[in-house]
Amino acid sequence: MSVVGFDLGFQSCYVAVARAGGIETVANEYSDRCTPSFVSFGPKNRSIGAAAKSQVVTNCKNTVQGFKRFHGRAISDPYVQSVKSSLVYDLAEMPSGSTGIKVMYMEEEKVFSIEQVSAMLLTKLKETAENALKKPVADCVISVPSFFTDMERRSVIDAAQIAGLNCLRLMNETTAVTLAYGIYKQDLPAPEEKPRTVVFVDLGHSSFQVSVCAFNKGKLKVLATAFDSALGGKDFDEVLVSHFCEVFVKKYKLDPRTKPRALVRLYQECEKLKKLMSANCSDLPLNIECFMDDVDVTGVLNRGQFEEMSAGLLSRVEGPLQCVLEQAKLKKEDIYAVEIVGGASRMPAIKERISKFFGKELSTTLNADEAVARGCALQCAILSPAFKVREFCISDVVPFPISLKWSSAVEEGLGDCEVFTKNHAAPFSKVLTFYRKEPFPLEAYYSDPKNLPHPTTTIGHFLVRNVVPQASGECAKVKVKVRVNVHGVFSVSSASLVELLKPVEGEEPMDMDHAPKEDKNKMQVDQEEQKSPGDVPGETTPETDETSTEDGKQEKKADQPSQAKKPKVKTKMVELPIEHKLDWQLSNETLNLFVENEGKMIMQDKLEKERNDAKNNVEEYVYEMRDKLHGLLEKFVSPPDRDSFSSKLEDTENWLYEDGEDQLKQVYIDKLAELKQLGQPIMERYMEAEEGPKAFAELGKQIQMYMKLVGAYKAKDEQYDHLNELEMTRVEKQVSDAMAWLNDKMNQQSKQDPTKEPVVRVSEIQAKTKELYLSCNSVVSKPKPKVELPKDDKTANGPVNGQPDAEAGGEKMADAEQETTDNAKLPEMDID
Ligand code: ATP
Ligand code: MG
Repeated sequence: MSVVGFDLGFQSCYVAVARAGGIETVANEYSDRCTPSFVSFGPKNRSIGAAAKSQVVTNCKNTVQGFKRFHGRAISDPYVQSVKSSLVYDLAEMPSGSTGIKVMYMEEEKVFSIEQVSAMLLTKLKETAENALKKPVADCVISVPSFFTDMERRSVIDAAQIAGLNCLRLMNETTAVTLAYGIYKQDLPAPEEKPRTVVFVDLGHSSFQVSVCAFNKGKLKVLATAFDSALGGKDFDEVLVSHFCEVFVKKYKLDPRTKPRALVRLYQECEKLKKLMSANCSDLPLNIECFMDDVDVTGVLNRGQFEEMSAGLLSRVEGPLQCVLEQAKLKKEDIYAVEIVGGASRMPAIKERISKFFGKELSTTLNADEAVARGCALQCAILSPAFKVREFCISDVVPFPISLKWSSAVEEGLGDCEVFTKNHAAPFSKVLTFYRKEPFPLEAYYSDPKNLPHPTTTIGHFLVRNVVPQASGECAKVKVKVRVNVHGVFSVSSASLVELLKPVEGEEPMDMDHAPKEDKNKMQVDQEEQKSPGDVPGETTPETDETSTEDGKQEKKADQPSQAKKPKVKTKMVELPIEHKLDWQLSNETLNLFVENEGKMIMQDKLEKERNDAKNNVEEYVYEMRDKLHGLLEKFVSPPDRDSFSSKLEDTENWLYEDGEDQLKQVYIDKLAELKQLGQPIMERYMEAEEGPKAFAELGKQIQMYMKLVGAYKAKDEQYDHLNELEMTRVEKQVSDAMAWLNDKMNQQSKQDPTKEPVVRVSEIQAKTKELYLSCNSVVSKPKPKVELPKDDKTANGPVNGQPDAEAGGEKMADAEQETTDNAKLPEMDID
């Protein structure tokens, strides 16, 4: 399984992986750890990430950006409508009413759902992770803003599925940051001590998120979150763009808002200026050449003026800070540290306000850009059985209160109960009890629409099916489990009917309120998941009939008034099917179709890349050979051949810009082969000329060595007196033949015209060297029979002619094996 975390940002994304015992943010194909959240559509392929961003000016209508917040929103949604006019690309309505984008792709007008667009981005991020890990990636953790509602979350999960990812958890961005902060801290208070309370602030491109979190050794508990979903770096860019639009209208009579391409350039330049102003408070210029109608424009601004213009935005910083403190019932003095992350938190005015609010210096111990991705990767490592990560328990919160509505069986009225309060611990399951005779519907909704950053309050409709009355005709007891899962998504996850059984003679009767042990365990699984000492109040009061609303109580009394007086009976739990109706949930068929289409588009991109690579190979070869024909290779080609090859290269270059501009991959492959037919022999002659002398020298060295040995043998050197005379005579002959061969070939080669085939090829010389070695070495390296040697004379059994002796080789092998075994143990890691 892969351990990967993706920060799916509004402006840019980061990928972190677990590797070599730690978490690492990895770079994309441009060696950049930041991948822009851009997808660009072309006539033959898509570009994603940095390649797409580079097309934002040239192909602006078909380059999509800033789409993160369209997840789970209708095209008629006020947010979508409000940003629509500032988009350079077109939006389109999907059949379900949700938001899609309309672009020209493969020379056709196409509409893609927002899930498909995010899936494209995820495909790129997945590829980045795969390149880093050198293995397929599926399991991952993906970040979302903490204020995303169910619709938005489900839409991101669908996007992950389209991209072939198995999202183990959608993690709230601020929670990912808290994990990245807490897991490495060695000095957190013990579990029974007062926790350390830290505030985290993330100001990204599109939103401002704050969370307050309590840390103890081995656990983090998010206490509260707050946000301004319409305050981010892009809103400051907007201030600058508006300012310069006004300036240019006045100064040059040019309105950038009338020309998408000019507007895109202005956004880019304003963002750059904004970043420069973070580091510099003097007057700074903004220059754009050939902006509109061939006019160069200039402007100037300084930080003071910028902050004045942004006063409205800056005044919104304190709201969410105050809000988290109030929710968590904390005072500023209770806060141990304030950690800031997110690109836009680098603005001095923002930092000043946060710091002033808390009355303390801000901490920037985390990497402002990468903390979210790193937190996600850490969470993925915790969830992965393949990694050993320090025990760390993460308790998040439900951001918006969730209620359940039902029609009462008795009163014909409506029942209603807030099942998850704001800031309730999550993930979490609760069991509700109903008394019914027939299938019944439930509706989940957000019960505080005023504070919901989304116009749709409905979460989903659920129908508990197959409910039948008890044998006696009375209402049956139905236990319904509701859950906010690891993704922060609500569901009615299961339901069961408590069937009363006739007591069997001789057996102890059981209280029906205590389900058989097996089932009870089943019910509690999810609650156990949540378990962290002292923070699960819902665990003891999970049932509506005991816990909460008037309706619930009425219902119990009315539906089953005599229940308590009944004799104790044995029960059996019967699992009930649940029908879900979730708005905009992509159907399985649609999802499968999208998965298939994504696969096709990936393939198309791959083919187009291969085609382009084939074309580039031709181009590169033309340039390389043209250069070399008049340099390195000049000596190895006759002037007439060089001229005809040169003109062929020139023709090819022209062809590449004309008929050859847009050809099939095979055409380029054939073209390259045609050129290489001419170029390769020249190249080979050059290589032979380079390598030939080295091969000759190698053979010469070997001949010399054997000659020396034969000489010593003949001179009766006692070191060699064990060698066989007949064999040594043969060696001598072979050596002198080789010598004659060498001299002859070298002589011929020195007279050979370098524009012609060499007399002898490097491979032949090497073969000769090997042949000589094979026939002589076994003779001369025969070990001398064991005799008592003076202590330091080890040469007799030592290596002959530099070949490693068997024993040394053996030892090396053993070392290598040791290494491989050690490597095999690697997958466990301890994140320290
Ligand atoms: P979101 O969190 O809203 O999904 P994101 O994660 O893509 O968006 P970040 O990468 O955290 O956003 O931040 C990007 C924003 O930070 C941009 O508006 C960018 O201009 C801004 N930014 C980055 N560096 C600086 C800087 N030095 N000064 C001011 N703003 C900066
Ligand atoms: Mg972000």
